[in-house]
Amino acid sequence: MAKDVDLVVVGSGFFGLTIAERCATELGKRVLVIDRRDHIGGNAYSEIDPETGIEVHRYGAHLFHTSNPRVWEYVNRFTEFTSYVHKVYTTHRGEVFPLPINLGTINQFFRSAHGPDAARALVASQASEIEAGDAKNLEEKAVSLIGRPLYEAFIRDYTAKQWQTPPRELPAEIISRLPVRYTYDNRYFNDDHEGLPVDGYTAWLERMADHPLIEVRLSTDFFDESQPINKRALAGTVPIVYTGPIDRYFDYSEGELAWRTLDFEREVLPVGDFQGTSVMNYADPDAPFTRIHEFRHFHPERDYPVDKTIVMREFSRFAERSDEPYYPVNTPSDREKLLAYRELAKSEPDVLFGGRLGTYQYLDMHMAIGAALSMFDNRLRPSFS
Ligand code: FAD
Repeated sequence: MAKDVDLVVVGSGFFGLTIAERCATELGKRVLVIDRRDHIGGNAYSEIDPETGIEVHRYGAHLFHTSNPRVWEYVNRFTEFTSYVHKVYTTHRGEVFPLPINLGTINQFFRSAHGPDAARALVASQASEIEAGDAKNLEEKAVSLIGRPLYEAFIRDYTAKQWQTPPRELPAEIISRLPVRYTYDNRYFNDDHEGLPVDGYTAWLERMADHPLIEVRLSTDFFDESQPINKRALAGTVPIVYTGPIDRYFDYSEGELAWRTLDFEREVLPVGDFQGTSVMNYADPDAPFTRIHEFRHFHPERDYPVDKTIVMREFSRFAERSDEPYYPVNTPSDREKLLAYRELAKSEPDVLFGGRLGTYQYLDMHMAIGAALSMFDNRLRPSFS
């Protein structure tokens, strides 16, 4: 029961588990972690597909990468990482190009053999069509950064699919930069460290929770008053770290924060290899999905079946309240609401809000873990000592 614990953590994603692990291991505190889902790990959760034995990331492909030495040292306490290096390709008009846009993409697209300086000059002259400061919408901003031909091929229709909105009708601030590399390097991430957990995300997440002072209760919703670990019952009785949606905590009193969500369509195919790579984007409007993940390619070192593979098509749309919230839309009206919720949060001295849902921001895994380590140092350790 909650009266026997020192801290309740709502949400067993990377943020909540990092808090729980630190408070148990470092401070000897008894921590109860609850999650409304029937598994731990939040969106990083992965599972073995029973038909193929292939590890599938249920909530979308998760690639670990970081340049933060503290986070890298911390995560290595719970898992080893493979040497997987993430690369992404895109299909445009029946042709496959490497991403992010690099010298290979440019030369293939323009049927040229430019060196870095010539390619840079070409893109700069095409981008000069619009001054970045004059851009009134996302389309103009993108053209001002990379020029119209590359924008129309690789950004326009993909972005329209992501946002269900033509880029001419999206605000320019959605993008501040569009990376173009003037080398043939098409590593997706620039970080010092990257890789995938050797025995999967769920084994890693379970090891974080594997401590005698940590209890995890699944299928337990913090707002469900028919079970004892709920908001009303706990109010003022125990410190809480809350990593669910901040607007839900305050019963949407300041309005709903807008999110985009994803729908995933999984399929087992009777072939050993469908697309030859882990992620293929689809840049054109004729494909309704944004990308296809093929999970076997995340672990080439594993002994997966040679006659079956599993693919997942990803579709993007605005979220309803009942959908999984994935990416904050972050309009000016959302930012106003968030400020109002932050004010309300100050009147809840026993509750700390954290993680991507509790702070309404997109966080990569290393950022969620880093933010939790900072909350532990700056708020929890001092308050418990
Ligand atoms: P979450 O993982 O969302 O955990 C929050 C938990 O709180 C959930 O388990 C939820 O069920 C629980 N919860 C919510 N409300 C309640 C309630 N009322 N009661 C009880 N429990 C509740 N990061 C990367 O570094 N690399 C990637 O490649 C990458 N890919 C991504 C792809 C997608 C599609 C998405 C959406 C995210 C991706 N991320 C990636 C980000 C990564 O998922 C987050 O960094 C991580 O999930 C953040 O952890 P968290 O604990 O803040 O939130």
